[in-house]
Amino acid sequence: MNENLQIRTYKKTGHIEVICGSMFSGKTEELIRRIRRAEIAKQRVKVFKPKIDNRYSEFSIVSHNEQSYPSEIIENADEIPEKCFDVEVIGIDEAQFFDNNLVDIIQMLADSGKRVLVAGLDQDYRAKPFEPMPQILAIAEYITKIHAVCVVCGAPANRTQRVTENKDRVLVGGENHYEARCRLHHIIKEKENE
Ligand code: ADP
Ligand code: MG
Repeated sequence: MNENLQIRTYKKTGHIEVICGSMFSGKTEELIRRIRRAEIAKQRVKVFKPKIDNRYSEFSIVSHNEQSYPSEIIENADEIPEKCFDVEVIGIDEAQFFDNNLVDIIQMLADSGKRVLVAGLDQDYRAKPFEPMPQILAIAEYITKIHAVCVVCGAPANRTQRVTENKDRVLVGGENHYEARCRLHHIIKEKENE
């Protein structure tokens, strides 16, 4: 067989898939669904989440409807490659809590032939793009934007309303602080807009 053809036959291409949306839109649920399907196909999988997110479990990603899948907590995205030599499918939840080096890391993982699934909030509670998600959306092969249900009117919700008084961008502590809202019913307080 022609040598070039052989290389083309055996080298596998990787890619990046993004699952984004507001809180409660089903990102974690969808990530778990895709990871489970990969596992059924006998792919070697591994899931990571940032240290900041140990709300429900240290050892799993957990969705709001109590689906879960084993995961490893990492502080920085640069820990991922060394843990994934023999892994074919990599899942990353709550990607918005990583810093911008996640972008280069997942690019490199996809370049090396891996399927990289990234789930994260595309906007913060003030509807500002939540880095590094914009950069990841730009380099991804596949993007799925999903919606929750607006708790005020039932329309598709692409925003996250913070319902407690706190202006930190990151306020981990679960669903009690947040509601899914549509554009019409999402309120950004004026003084927070400055
Ligand atoms: P995300 O990771 O996007 O925050 P999850 O996958 O953890 O979302 O949870 C999705 C689940 O949240 C839904 O299947 C549903 O059971 C629940 N849920 C709670 N509030 C809402 C809402 N307003 N709209 C849609 N689903 C909601
Ligand atoms: Mg989630």
